[in-house]
Amino acid sequence: MKKKRKSALLEFTAKGIYCAQAKVYLDPWRGVDKAIISHGHADHARWGSKHYITQEHNVPILQARLGDLHYEGKAYGDPFTINGVKFSFHPAGHVPGSSQIRVEYKGEVWVFTGDYKVQEDGISTPFEPVRCHTFITECTFGLPVFQWAPPASVHEQINSWWAKNSATKTTSLLMGYSLGKAQRLLKHLDPSIGKIFTHGATEKMTQVLRQYIDFPATELITRETTKKDIEGHLVLAPPAVMGSSWAKKLGQHATGYASGWMAFRGARRRRAVDKAFVLSDHADWQGLLSAIKATGCENVITTHGYTELFAQYLNEQGWNARTEKTQYEAETLEAEVVES
Ligand SMILES: [Zn+2]
Repeated sequence: MKKKRKSALLEFTAKGIYCAQAKVYLDPWRGVDKAIISHGHADHARWGSKHYITQEHNVPILQARLGDLHYEGKAYGDPFTINGVKFSFHPAGHVPGSSQIRVEYKGEVWVFTGDYKVQEDGISTPFEPVRCHTFITECTFGLPVFQWAPPASVHEQINSWWAKNSATKTTSLLMGYSLGKAQRLLKHLDPSIGKIFTHGATEKMTQVLRQYIDFPATELITRETTKKDIEGHLVLAPPAVMGSSWAKKLGQHATGYASGWMAFRGARRRRAVDKAFVLSDHADWQGLLSAIKATGCENVITTHGYTELFAQYLNEQGWNARTEKTQYEAETLEAEVVES
């Protein structure tokens, strides 16, 4: 008789990361019966599944983005069992409500990170290392060249840029992802400089997060808003507005763009922004390595970003690392445009 091969606790299938024992998918990219979701970004939380289980703060985010579907919210660290498999959510520090998903069966532990960062951002529950045997990690910025400055210094740069523009009555158009980055920027803007206006997409997500996070006041830009109203003030918007007719209506303005990719000079040129701020919601090179070490894992699976190079480096350092293909996007400039 042929010996039945023991299947892995999590497998990479055409629909997403699958736990056969529990019959659930983690961040599936096709519609499934039961989906466990790491966070609200479009490449991780997709429409079309029958039942979604996610961290409780991510429920209102999914509701706003995917509509009225069947959601179940869990607190961080609160385990639940499906057919003998124990699952729990642990802070990923990426955006509010973002989680690493811990999966345990018969003493074997896997952790799927979704997206994560180890720097604190002032709005997301800080990243928490989770011990495991196998760690499925993103590596969007998995090259040694990526090394983030302390966030406080970046926020200082942003406020002084705004103050300088304000002094000459120039409007500041500050761009960043509508979920996570925009609110992280907002949280650290200095309202004593002026008013903070928002694009509709940014305002929508900010309203959702106001349910559990305190932010400075914002004012939505409408058809009635005039150039005079916003002169010298700051406008928060998604990167997709760059060069659009919406942006032209703002009148004379300076553009600022906050992204990890702004560490690349070529990326700044391509986007033709006046001011680039290097601020990422993903771990940098050292952040990735420290997170992996803290898990005490033997096996690492890289899913999106500089996957091959990063896995190769980990193998050289003694881990058993490999790459799996997924449909998660590695925060490219193009993805940012689509996201918003
Ligand atoms: Zn994300």
